[in-house]
Amino acid sequence: KVTIHVLGAGLAGSEAAWQIADKGISCILYEMRPLRQTPAHKTSDFGELVCSNSLKSDSENTASWLLKRELRQLGSLAMRAAEETRVPGGHALTVDRDLFAAALTKAVESHPLIRVVREEVTEIPADGIVVVATGPLTSGPLAADIARLTGSERLYFYDSISPIIDAESIDREKVFAASRYGKSLDGGDDYLNCPFNKQEYETFVDAVLTAESAGAHIDEDRAIHNGKVAFFESCLPIEEIARRGRDTLRFGPMKPVGLDDPKTGRWPYAVVQLRQEDQRAGSYNLVGFQNYMKFPEQKRVFRLIPGLENAEFLRYGQIHRNTYINGPELLSATLQLKSDPRIFFAGQISGVEGYVESIATGLLAGRFAAALALGESPAPVPRETALGSLTHYITNANPKHYQPANIAFDLLPALDEAARQRLKRDKKARHAEVCRRAIAAMDSYV
Ligand code: FAD
Repeated sequence: KVTIHVLGAGLAGSEAAWQIADKGISCILYEMRPLRQTPAHKTSDFGELVCSNSLKSDSENTASWLLKRELRQLGSLAMRAAEETRVPGGHALTVDRDLFAAALTKAVESHPLIRVVREEVTEIPADGIVVVATGPLTSGPLAADIARLTGSERLYFYDSISPIIDAESIDREKVFAASRYGKSLDGGDDYLNCPFNKQEYETFVDAVLTAESAGAHIDEDRAIHNGKVAFFESCLPIEEIARRGRDTLRFGPMKPVGLDDPKTGRWPYAVVQLRQEDQRAGSYNLVGFQNYMKFPEQKRVFRLIPGLENAEFLRYGQIHRNTYINGPELLSATLQLKSDPRIFFAGQISGVEGYVESIATGLLAGRFAAALALGESPAPVPRETALGSLTHYITNANPKHYQPANIAFDLLPALDEAARQRLKRDKKARHAEVCRRAIAAMDSYV
C-alpha cells in the first residue's frame, strides 16, 4: 500500500488532501504552522487567505467564474467552504477569511482518511507519492531540496512579471514588425517594435523614475539586505535599470540596434519590443518590462510608449516574493515531475498565480495522485476547459520566458475562424461561446 504525502496545508494542499481522501485513499498532510510561520501567514489554520478575501469574479461567463464552476462541479472542498462563509462582495466571491479557513481546517482535520502532521518538512520524502504544495513562501530547507531535485536554475524566488496587452489595442500605424538584424526564429518578423525619438525617450524615462511604486515589500527586503535586493541581473525591474543612468534602458531592454524602422530606414533612438504570447491568443508581452509600479501608474506610463497610447492591459507587471518552478520544463500534463513521476506539484509553487488557481491545481494534483495510487494512469482534463487550459499553460508555455499566470480567456484555445468572424464585434458573446465550449467539454469529461 503506497503512502501519499501532501506537503503544505494551504489552499492547494488542503484541497489535494481532500480529493485524495474523497477517493477512499488515506494520506498524510504536513503543515509547519504554527511551529514555524511564514512571513505572510498569521494563524495556524489551513487555507489562510494572506491578503485579499476575494476569490475573484463570480459573474457568469468570466474566466474566473468558469474556473470556479469547474471546481464546484468536481466537488472542491474550498469552493464548498467559500459558499458557506460567503460575505457580500458584489460580483466577486468574497468570504469571511477566518470562517473560511476554520471551515476548511475542520473538514480536513475531521476526515478519517487524512492524518495531519504539524511539522516542517525539510526534504522531499524518499518513498511514496508526494504532492508538493508548500506555496510561494516555502521554507528555506525544503526550497533547497526542491532546487536540488529540479536544478537550481529552474526554481525561482521572485516573480518578475512583464505586462501583457491586448493585440487589438496596438496602433499598427506606429509600430513595425522586425527581428534584430533580420534574424528571426522562423523566418518571419518575430517582434513588434515601438520606436522612440530622443524627446519621447526622455519623457518616458522621467515618467518611469517618478512613477509611484507598489514595492513596499521590496523596500523592506532592501532594508534587510543593506540596500541590496536579490534580483536576478537578467530580469531586473525597469525602474531599477532606469535608476542606474539615463541611457541604461536604451542599452538594455529598450536597445534599438539592428531594428530598421521602415518609415525612416534607420534604427530608432530606442524601442520597446512586443512579443506575441505563444500560449495566449491575441496578446503581446512587453519584453523585459517587469516592474513594480502601481497598476494605474503602469497604465499611465506605458501608454506613453509610441503605438500603445490606447493599450488595454490584460496583465500588469509585478515583482514579488514567490517560490515557483519552471513548470514547462519540469512538469507533465498531469502535474507530475517528468524526472520522478511519483512527485506532483500544486498551488503557487507549480507556477500558477492566485487563490483560485492554487485551489484548482491542488484539486487536480489530488485527483491525479489518487489515480496513481490506485494503479491507474492519471488523465489530463480537456484543453477546452479552464482547468485544462491552466495546466496546459503551466506545462507548455515557453520555458525560456516562463511567468506564472492567473486564469484568463487568452489561456483558453481561440474560437475557430467562423465563430470569430460571426462574433467579431461582440467580446461578451465570444467569451460566452468559449465558456459554452468549456462546459460541454467538462460535462463529457465528468
Ligand atoms: P499557501 O496557501 O501559502 O500554502 C502553503 C502552505 O505550506 C502554508 O500553510 C505554509 O505554512 C506551508 N509550508 C511552507 N513550507 C513548508 C514546509 N517546509 N513544511 C510544511 N509546511 C510548509 N492571491 C490572490 O488571488 N489574491 C491575493 O490577494 C493574494 N495575495 C498574496 C499576498 C502574498 C503576500 C503572497 C505571498 C501571495 C498572495 N497571493 C494572492 C498568491 C497566492 O494565491 C497565495 O499565496 C495562495 O495562498 C497560494 O496557495 P498555495 O496553496 O500554493 O500556498
